[in-house]
Amino acid sequence: MRKRIVGAAAGLAILFTAAGVQAQGMEDVKITASDLGKGIHMLMGRGGNIGLSAGPDGVFMVDDEFAPLTPKIVAAVRQISKQPIRFVLNTHWHFDHTGGNENLGKAGVAIVAHDNVRKLMSAEQFLKAFGRKIPAAPKAALPIVTFSDGVTFHLNGETIKVLHAPNAHTSGDSIVHFVEADVIHMGDTFFNGFYPFIDFQHGGTIEGMVEVADRVIAMATSGTKIIPGHGPLSNKAELKVYRDMLETVGKRMADAVAAGKSLADLQQNSPLADLDATWGKGFLKPPKFLELVYTGIKQ
Ligand SMILES: [Zn+2]
Repeated sequence: MRKRIVGAAAGLAILFTAAGVQAQGMEDVKITASDLGKGIHMLMGRGGNIGLSAGPDGVFMVDDEFAPLTPKIVAAVRQISKQPIRFVLNTHWHFDHTGGNENLGKAGVAIVAHDNVRKLMSAEQFLKAFGRKIPAAPKAALPIVTFSDGVTFHLNGETIKVLHAPNAHTSGDSIVHFVEADVIHMGDTFFNGFYPFIDFQHGGTIEGMVEVADRVIAMATSGTKIIPGHGPLSNKAELKVYRDMLETVGKRMADAVAAGKSLADLQQNSPLADLDATWGKGFLKPPKFLELVYTGIKQ
């Protein structure tokens, strides 16, 4: 479990550096699948966790990691189902969740996402926190169906509710509820076990992150399986702990900003010091997370 968290986090760190998206080492990536019951599966490789509904009506997929991994991901799907991949739902615009879009779009898979995912992917973006320019996506990679509040799929005997979470990790997040199977994919509104990246520049807010966590906590039972954007499969109890951490971070950082503290002040004497040991071992180390949130709240 531990190894898996660290592995996923390290992968993210490599891919967020200026070195480029098609980073080294993709050849070594293995896709592992977990059966969550009732035709729902979780795939982990590198980048955002993938969710699947597989059954007689075809395959519905949530997120698609990086372009070089498409053949491995499709091979992993083929181990589960021989039916065609019909839909890919992007939880948000980031390239570690949409990298496979172009390959799948060209293969005729319908890509679906919130309106703002298409908008953000259509133009060049800059991620200040990582000093990275993200080029506009080619046409085949863009969602061909978009929605503002939500959309429901009816496939494989499953009701698949896609719900927009406003201003959480980005301006275009969706969570995906596989109702009968009792599984919820939260995209990057949930980093299980470590400080999350929040894309303040593209509409993300801590309040929105807390809000969507509250919403999922209200929807979930003690048996609900929760797929985070990054980190291992989770549940309501863990989500609650994560939610409380986010609320604490938001409150302390807002207080510090309101008190006129500078980033240098906070770096000397971090208001998050007691949280760092638990949450700071992932992809965002404590100084980077502090800076991200400080800059985000000030902006
Ligand atoms: Zn993301």
